[in-house]
Amino acid sequence: MSETLTIGLSKGRIYKETLPLLEAAGIVPAEDPEKSRKLILETNVPGVRVVLLRASDVPTYVEYGAADVGVAGKDVLMEHGGEGLYEPLDLNIARCRLMVAGKPGALDGHHRLRIATKYVESARAHFARQGRQVEVIKLYGSMELAPLVGLGDCIVDVVDTGNTLRANGLEPLEHIADISSRLIVNRASMKMKSARLRAFIEHMRAAVEARKG
Ligand code: AMP
Repeated sequence: MSETLTIGLSKGRIYKETLPLLEAAGIVPAEDPEKSRKLILETNVPGVRVVLLRASDVPTYVEYGAADVGVAGKDVLMEHGGEGLYEPLDLNIARCRLMVAGKPGALDGHHRLRIATKYVESARAHFARQGRQVEVIKLYGSMELAPLVGLGDCIVDVVDTGNTLRANGLEPLEHIADISSRLIVNRASMKMKSARLRAFIEHMRAAVEARKG
């Protein structure tokens, strides 16, 4: 039997932007995940399948080898810690910035800041680098609401156009990191399926370079 390859992707932005890169590597999923409720998609290549995961679960599936490779945002990888993963390729897709945001002047003064965010680890690390004491309040979404109703002084969130912040009277205050999606690979798979994975990574790399033009 030939070797299988399981690719972990999340629906939405990452799936849409990864699809053309996969296609350049000769892999086309057999179904459109927006039209199907299936979580495992076969592809045109026998033995190669795509599994659909929550974005924040992609590193976990790849770390444990339930997926050989995956595509995850750098924001997700920074929170996960990246243990047990290779990160061989920046796909240069789903680009945005991880920022501290809040009402104007929210960081002024020397009081202990309260930060509402789903990016707990990144927020802690950012303010630790500044030597600033903070309290981090874990949220799962709609971060922009928190400072408007008194839950924390500011937020840490990914920002693309900044429209969501502006619409809620918030502004970007500090830049933490530039974010894009990365190809991640399970360490054991990289050894066990070396030839296939190296070829896959090189095809993806070529597709990324071609898009840069
Ligand atoms: P914005 O264009 O700044 O209004 O972005 C709107 C919302 O989309 C933000 O609050 C983020 O939660 C989300 N977002 C923007 N870009 C990305 C991205 N590359 N990956 C994940 N979420 C994003």
